[in-house]
Amino acid sequence: MPTLISRDEALRRIRSEGGRPECLMCSIIDRQVGEVHVIYEDATSLVMLPRYVRRWGHVMIVPKAHVLSFADASPELWAETSALAHRAARIVEAVMRPRRCYMASTGSSAGELTQSSRHLHVHVVPLYSADDRPSDIFSWTAGVYVGDPHEWATLRQRYVDAWSRTA
Ligand SMILES: [Zn+2]
Repeated sequence: MPTLISRDEALRRIRSEGGRPECLMCSIIDRQVGEVHVIYEDATSLVMLPRYVRRWGHVMIVPKAHVLSFADASPELWAETSALAHRAARIVEAVMRPRRCYMASTGSSAGELTQSSRHLHVHVVPLYSADDRPSDIFSWTAGVYVGDPHEWATLRQRYVDAWSRTA
């Protein structure tokens, strides 16, 4: 079972893994802030498991270009990101069988934070409870889940297998 840790503990762990990088997303892409659980990667994009999640099975899609606004994202880049997000949502549905998947491009309005970035990215979050609400899912106030190495590896492999079966 993944373990629920407090927001403060998650922030402490993130800081100990990589300090306060200039851009969190670029640092993840460059493997400068700890292990990256990759589901799919090419020259343009990274699809991965974020390591601090409100719901187990959360997938994140990150364009590799350091793009901070939709104005700076070309239609081609966003079409690629959206296609990957759609594929990610389909593997989340296939593997985790959630009641619902949220898909959202959130990010920080306050500059780079320890746990949030201005660099565009898309979250795909599976919901397992009828009581889940965006205000809870997109906040760390109630803590975040982490896995042990085996749990991360197992989840990643299930998604990689599903990805290969999904066009
Ligand atoms: Zn960046």
